[in-house]
Amino acid sequence: MIELQDGPAPARFAAALERNRAFAASGRHEGAPILPNLRLFVITCIDPRVDPTHFLGLRLSDAVVIRNAGGRVTSEVIADVAFITQIAEAAVPEGPLFELAVIHHTQCGTVALADEGYRRRFAQRTGAEEAWLRDKAVVDPTSTVALDVDRLRRSPAISPRIAVSGHVYDVVSGLVETVVKSDR
Ligand SMILES: [Zn+2]
Repeated sequence: MIELQDGPAPARFAAALERNRAFAASGRHEGAPILPNLRLFVITCIDPRVDPTHFLGLRLSDAVVIRNAGGRVTSEVIADVAFITQIAEAAVPEGPLFELAVIHHTQCGTVALADEGYRRRFAQRTGAEEAWLRDKAVVDPTSTVALDVDRLRRSPAISPRIAVSGHVYDVVSGLVETVVKSDR
């Protein structure tokens, strides 16, 4: 079970808004380009420990980031990649466009979906197919990331101008290890 920390009620958005005022005052957002500086596209998990801004040292406009439960490659993710690709093609008519890095992680909460009881309750709650949910569980991030890289590479919606790679982030060591090297 996930334990929530004891203590007074958090300030929630008010605290974040205060940080936003400091950010805007710093002027760091000025002139930020719409095409990512590192020509990098990251797909990873929504787990707050797994924030690529921190573990990859990303600055504003460095990368396009998609996050969902597990960092899984779904048809929605493929559609978002295709959408950004089409915008980028207008600005960069030829040559490589992006490296698409899929990053799964250790201790992923989606492992709960491997449990039949949990999965059934979640299927009832959301109307999702149980088999589809079972496939979403990241029990072994090394194998799921390889599956998702393969899915991207096979998708006709993903441009051959996009390189794809797969990695695992270890929440204990803080290190990212490459599982599937970039294909370009
Ligand atoms: Zn996760």
